[in-house]
Amino acid sequence: RDPSPLLEVKGNIELKRPRIKAPSRLPLSGSRLKRRPDQMEDGLEPEKKRTRGLGATTKITTSHTRVPSLTTVPQTQGQTTAQKVSKKIGPRCSTAIATGLKNQKPVPAVPVQKLGTSAVPPMAGGKKPSKRPAWDLKGQLCDLNAELKCCRERTQTLDQENQQLQDQLRDAQQQAKALGTERRTLEGHLAKVQAQAEQGQQELKNLRACVLELEERLSTQEGLVQELQKQQVELQEERRGLMSQLEEKERRLQTSEAALSSSRAEVASLWQETAAQSALLAEREERLHGLEMERRRLHNQLQELKGNIRVFCRVRPVLPGEPTPPPGLLLFPSGPGGPSDPPTRLSLSRSDERRATLSGAPAPATRHDFSFDRVFPPGSGQDEVFEEIAMLVQSALDGYPVCIFAYGQTGSGKTFTMEGGPGGDPQLEGLIPRALRHLFSVAQELSGQGWSYSFVASYVEIYNETVRDLLATGTRKGQGGECEIRRAGPGSEELTVTNARYVPVSCEKEVEALLHLARQNRAVARTAQNERSSRSHSVFQLQISGQHSSRGLQCGASLSLVDLAGSERLDPGLALGPGERERLRETQAINSSLSTLGLVIMALSNKESHVPYRNSKLTYLLQNSLGGSAKMLMFVNISPLEENISESLNSLRFASKVNQCVIGTAQANRK
Ligand code: ADP
Ligand code: MG
Repeated sequence: RDPSPLLEVKGNIELKRPRIKAPSRLPLSGSRLKRRPDQMEDGLEPEKKRTRGLGATTKITTSHTRVPSLTTVPQTQGQTTAQKVSKKIGPRCSTAIATGLKNQKPVPAVPVQKLGTSAVPPMAGGKKPSKRPAWDLKGQLCDLNAELKCCRERTQTLDQENQQLQDQLRDAQQQAKALGTERRTLEGHLAKVQAQAEQGQQELKNLRACVLELEERLSTQEGLVQELQKQQVELQEERRGLMSQLEEKERRLQTSEAALSSSRAEVASLWQETAAQSALLAEREERLHGLEMERRRLHNQLQELKGNIRVFCRVRPVLPGEPTPPPGLLLFPSGPGGPSDPPTRLSLSRSDERRATLSGAPAPATRHDFSFDRVFPPGSGQDEVFEEIAMLVQSALDGYPVCIFAYGQTGSGKTFTMEGGPGGDPQLEGLIPRALRHLFSVAQELSGQGWSYSFVASYVEIYNETVRDLLATGTRKGQGGECEIRRAGPGSEELTVTNARYVPVSCEKEVEALLHLARQNRAVARTAQNERSSRSHSVFQLQISGQHSSRGLQCGASLSLVDLAGSERLDPGLALGPGERERLRETQAINSSLSTLGLVIMALSNKESHVPYRNSKLTYLLQNSLGGSAKMLMFVNISPLEENISESLNSLRFASKVNQCVIGTAQANRK
């Protein structure tokens, strides 16, 4: 058994003090959330009071420890106090705590106050219980044991209360834990919701941008719609216009159809008429062809009557700066038909100086009369001259070879007559361009009758019995002696010049270009050998071929236009220097070829069996244009100057000889 029960009580009370206090501050499970703080404070109050009351009791009890030991101190006082506690406080206190724990509610205040008020006053000296006498130690011990029992019960109750409060604490902790979990879950939710909100914001932003874009597009579309509406209005307007046009056109179409049907009837009748006209036309064409052939025959007959070889004399005018010839030097007596007749005669008066010296007085001038097919005085123009030969040239188209010569001394106007004057003046154009233009135009006319013509031109120069191409181009320009006259083929009558260009021509421009090229070629040659052009024969030849395909007719001839070398002779009295020897050789060649030409003409007119064509390159080249049905015309060009009178006389004599030769059938018939 415990020898000091008081010490045990004191230790128990002190140990339990914080335990009592602790649960009073904790919220009671299930009531915490339902109660306001002021309510809670009120609830706690009685508890505090109770504890204080207990404290007071304990104090009293403790004060008893200072009481002298059980053996020395009288035990009556201590016993009485212990008995009071065990009798008055003990059972009430335990009941109150038990009730509080059972209901889980603060201990009701009233019983505790009762405990405080009822317990203390008796100890402070209220109505005193029956005190044990000091000697009644057994009684005192008994009281103390009762008090101890009461304290133990109370301790037990407090333990239970403590246990319950700990349970409550655990519950509360669990609840707090659960609430913490809940809070975390809610925080998670909150985070999610925030993220969603952010996403929503972003989407909202995107949608706003979308809306802006769409609004912009809408405004564009609206603009387009307006534009389209405007266009629609315009198109409707246009449509209305077109509709009215269509109506108008339909009206016109109807009118036209009516006109057409009447026209068809007309056409049908016209077809009939046309058929009749075609038959008539064919008949007329037939007749026309017959007439054309008749014209050709008669034309040829006329040319033959005029003479297959004709001689025209042309006197050039006195050029500026030349001495005026004495009057009467050259006279052009009018023909039998009077002044209106084209002149055919020429008189040349020459005074013989040797006879004059013998007699001492000037002898009368000797008059030389010449008669030709035609005489052109100095004033005659190029057109006038050409007019006279146009018919002759046309014979070439009808298939008769034509050859025209210009004969005379240098400076008498041969080149002027053939090619024309300087400067490209159309009035001064010579026979070559005029003849070709005439041929082209007549060929064009004849094409209406079914004739088609082609022309090929060549232009060569014969110098010192060598042939040179005047149409040479490039490196061959100005070079001579390369060309040879050959037959076109074995057994062929046709002659051709090797290495010479034969250029197809169909218009004036092409002919002009060829004449220009020939002039250039002569100019190049002139630098090599002085005045060569006047010492050589220039032969322009045009090969003409025509065909009438529907009738299967063909005709071909050549037109030759020859600018002969100067016919002047060398003065036999002149001393011959080294240069002069060359000149003599040239002159001999020229004289030889010119006299050969005369001889050939004479042989042809005399119808001799041998014609000396081969004696000169010129006659050899021209042989096909001289004999047979060929027509020949010789221009004798005369200088009007007195100083040239001797040469003029020589030329006129040569031409006269030719002229006599040619008095052919027609003239004979005329006689
Ligand atoms: P040829 O060729 O005979 O040597 P040209 O034709 O060169 O002579 O003539 C010599 C000069 O006389 C040239 O200046 C030429 O223009 C001029 N002439 C020749 N005939 C005539 C004419 N009928 N009218 C005007 N000038 C002419
Ligand atoms: Mg000349």
